[in-house]
Amino acid sequence: MIGAVDIGGTKMAAGVVDGDGKVLSRMESPTEVDRSYEDGLELLVSMLRKTSQDAGRGICGIGIGSTGPVNPVTGEFGDVDFLPRWRGKNPVRDLAGIFNVPVALENDGDAGALGEAGWGAGKNRSRLVYVTIGTGIGGGIILNGQLYRGVDGAHPEIGHHVIDPSGPPCSCGFRGCWEALATGPAMTAWFQHERSAEPKSHDNLSAKRICQLAQQGDPLACRAVAREAYYLGLGLANLINLFTPDAIVLGGSVMKSADLFLDGARKVISQGCRFVPFEKTELVLASLGEDANLIGAARVWHHRFGQQEVACA
Ligand SMILES: [Zn+2]
Repeated sequence: MIGAVDIGGTKMAAGVVDGDGKVLSRMESPTEVDRSYEDGLELLVSMLRKTSQDAGRGICGIGIGSTGPVNPVTGEFGDVDFLPRWRGKNPVRDLAGIFNVPVALENDGDAGALGEAGWGAGKNRSRLVYVTIGTGIGGGIILNGQLYRGVDGAHPEIGHHVIDPSGPPCSCGFRGCWEALATGPAMTAWFQHERSAEPKSHDNLSAKRICQLAQQGDPLACRAVAREAYYLGLGLANLINLFTPDAIVLGGSVMKSADLFLDGARKVISQGCRFVPFEKTELVLASLGEDANLIGAARVWHHRFGQQEVACA
């Protein structure tokens, strides 16, 4: 049994995950940008204790997936804008001290990649790229079953490769990143802009709502979906040209409507990847569902410590 912790921009969750990737118990709480580290740590400890009690099992370790930047080697939090008071703090060291078990931390994109590679849609595929498309684009890269890390353990930012330098500005400093063009908010912004000439263009519609309208045949929503498929396809084509992986596993809220986008995306890929065997790269949907982040966090622990003998608390 592994204690799993998911720290994101809107919520923090904790739970207990068994050796097959099944979530036995879980709890969550809002992240709250003003929360002090001491407060947050206390919350995580109490959620881990409670979920462990609910599951009726002790935990042998703790895995953490967190929205970055975090240092997986030292366990230290970097400049995380959704929890500014956590900068320089080290929940890996602190939780290990409190629970007396080994603790491992990864960026949540990497945690998601490890989860899908170990227990989800990426199982038995040694080279895979995991991409999650929601309010942002994140992901992770697995090569020969191991997580790919950059210099100093850095996590590559696959959402920030430039698709169109004349595109909308991105939080990273560039314009026209994949993340600035193919996320849910990018879809909403484009739709809203195109519709602004209409007299009754009311509230911002979510990407989900735009997809529903497209299914009902709304012409502008259909164009928004075609545009999303195009930019999704361009980003995937770049990943295929760069990595030629066995599979790309697609998750995140926008991919709940994947059947609207995948044919269009495949068409884009086939137009520009002729120097690599692009047809051999499978596009598969993430399979771990709503608990993917907690399952990924538990897999972080297995990836780091799974081969070692560990005494359980
Ligand atoms: Zn960017």
